[in-house]
Amino acid sequence: VFILAIESSCDDTAAAVLKNDQVLSNVVANQLIHNQYGGVVPELASRAHQQNIVPVIDAALRKANITKEQLSAIAFTQGPGLMGSLLVGSSFAKSLSLALQIPLLAVNHMQAHILAHFIAEEGYNKPTFPFLALTISGGHTQIVKVNDFFDMEIIGETTDDAVGEAFDKSAKILGLPYPGGPLVDKYAQLGDPKAFEFTKPKVPGLDFSFSGLKTAILYFIQKKKLENPNFVEENLNAICASIQHNIIEILMDKLKLAVKETGIKQIAIGGGVSANSGIRTTLKAAESKYGWTTYIPKFEYTTDNAAMIGIVGYQKFLSQNFETSAVVSKARIQF
Ligand code: ATP
Ligand code: FE
Repeated sequence: VFILAIESSCDDTAAAVLKNDQVLSNVVANQLIHNQYGGVVPELASRAHQQNIVPVIDAALRKANITKEQLSAIAFTQGPGLMGSLLVGSSFAKSLSLALQIPLLAVNHMQAHILAHFIAEEGYNKPTFPFLALTISGGHTQIVKVNDFFDMEIIGETTDDAVGEAFDKSAKILGLPYPGGPLVDKYAQLGDPKAFEFTKPKVPGLDFSFSGLKTAILYFIQKKKLENPNFVEENLNAICASIQHNIIEILMDKLKLAVKETGIKQIAIGGGVSANSGIRTTLKAAESKYGWTTYIPKFEYTTDNAAMIGIVGYQKFLSQNFETSAVVSKARIQF
């Protein structure tokens, strides 16, 4: 089975070709245009998708060394995401499936961040059901109980900002360019994570809150700058390390609670923030510390990519879960 997958939910235009559960190509075109605005501008995103989609799909097919006539089906991101962006990918997928007379597979982007773990990779053990998934990305922060490929329950989620936003907004306060998450990670590796303390939110149960952290950091920086105008420049590594440490502790506290409540000790992480080196090390260490089995995706499958859409498409293909071209994109959608 050859599946062409298209992902266009936010600001990256991506296409991948899978042969069963193996990735033959995985191409992403980043839209650098948003950096100067400090965040994604939806109208610019959809326009850039329109420019990128043909060359990106072309490159994916070329790298996979197959022709479009060999494709068995086309998978695309149905949602959640920016409506204008989603429409570019879905319209293209629908037209191509009609032209080639092959089935169409609609994929949930958040399910894909989780099921990316089922991509066949040499030396990578796939999780077994049931497991807990911590999905941490630019728009979501969820703990999901994954019973089967398409049987998932959200048992905890953020009540305000997502973790990715917490990283990006903190970075913005520090004067770092968008998206700041990877930069906070980079500087954090050189600083003392216990240099500064920020209070942790008190949210009951398995839910999260991250908006307070951003405010705490803002006030902290404003106060310190009054004493020393160069405070940020002189302490950038330590500030980043402390922010990251605080975020990791919030995530770990809730994960520990989720393990206690469900009795499930298999933990998989997914979403753009799972690229964070501190989170990856902490989770790896939790194996010997708490007796968990942890699943950490390859870097290229953490931030938005089409390979993860392809693997969900493949599972849907196996169960003949096809869509007609009447299927609609959804900006908001659970599972
Ligand atoms: P969603 O998946 O919720 O729709 P999205 O697709 O926009 O949101 P992703 O591409 O999954 O989000 O993740 C992007 C986020 O990941 C950004 O907030 C970015 O700053 C963050 N991120 C990427 N790499 C790192 C890193 N190394 N450390 C911390 N954050 C990171
Ligand atoms: Fe995403």
